[in-house]
Amino acid sequence: MSIPRPQPGILDITPYKGGESQAQGVARVIKLSSNETPLGPSPRAIAAYEAAAKSLHRYPDGGASALREALARHYGIEAERIVCSNGSDELIGLITQAFAGSGDEIVYSRHGFLMYPIAAKAHGAKPVAVPEKDLTADIDAMLAAVSDRTRIVFLANPNNPTGTYLPAQEVARLRRSLREDVLLVIDAAYAEYVSRNDYEAGIELVRAHDNVVMTRTFSKIYGLAGLRVGWAYAHPGVVDILHRVRGPFNVNLPAQAAAIAALADVAHVDAARTHNDIWLPWLSEEVRKLGLGVTPSLGNFILIRFPAAPHDALAADRFLSQRGILLRQMGGYGLGECLRATIGTEEENRLLVAALREFLGR
Ligand SMILES: *Cc1c(COP(=O)(O)O)cnc(C)c1O
Repeated sequence: MSIPRPQPGILDITPYKGGESQAQGVARVIKLSSNETPLGPSPRAIAAYEAAAKSLHRYPDGGASALREALARHYGIEAERIVCSNGSDELIGLITQAFAGSGDEIVYSRHGFLMYPIAAKAHGAKPVAVPEKDLTADIDAMLAAVSDRTRIVFLANPNNPTGTYLPAQEVARLRRSLREDVLLVIDAAYAEYVSRNDYEAGIELVRAHDNVVMTRTFSKIYGLAGLRVGWAYAHPGVVDILHRVRGPFNVNLPAQAAAIAALADVAHVDAARTHNDIWLPWLSEEVRKLGLGVTPSLGNFILIRFPAAPHDALAADRFLSQRGILLRQMGGYGLGECLRATIGTEEENRLLVAALREFLGR
């Protein structure tokens, strides 16, 4: 190459590929590839976004004060312990940049979210993938993988793309067994979809311990993926460090306005959760009835396991794409025999099941 050489690790990165959004020669696309909500954003968020258009010549509030205050009120937490970000993906990068570097290790579970190993490599650290049990993070194996060089442990709970989760007691056990100088990052991107007594998104753990960060997003249940808003809740010392490395205006003006409005529209979020509570079990059951494997999920998506050729995952993806139905290929996660499907509208879910039935010749 004739261009200057980048930092170590950068060329090891396989760029993150978002879900497909276009299908060749198909009039109607059913996009179930990126875990977006079928209900769309709150009308109140859209109105706030439009109102913000008149102020686009103004810089946003660099500290996102109003959004942090709104989050603090909503969750009963302290605004000073919140950092807002350009999607929670940005936080994964900022946390990695701030706490890990060359020679350090970052532990994550084998089928954990792909941005963890990408962020590690981007900052010269070594991603350490830990085997799972039943596609679920294995706390003992993760603890066994922690070395003197480990700086961060990433845990998505529930995890994407598996949809599996760890009960609060297990996450607490992981935290308890970690050294104080290792940061535990709990990525709770799908927390709003979970209604289980034994689940805790991470707020309580952050309150109780200095070395825990919880990250959240407006991209999933709030339907603002296109605006890019995430936030972290952490010890004030960790928050101070993240403020130092983030861009001064990392969350744009209409995004802050829309996120505040979305947070206030509790009924819209409730509707999205109710929709998922109906269609997640329905889709899981219907796909199982077709003879395909479905991993029990707590998110707004399911991981579907296909048999060998001719009814393998890639053939299924081709068949579905030709009909405009877009799922997510899982080869990048080492799950090439699977496709991930987001819970869609009732009609989309029914069309997906019908197309899968046709594909399988049932
Ligand atoms: C979608 C997702 C994110 C990224 O969310 P953004 O806020 O849109 O960057 C983070 N973590 C997990 C596990 C996700 O599935």
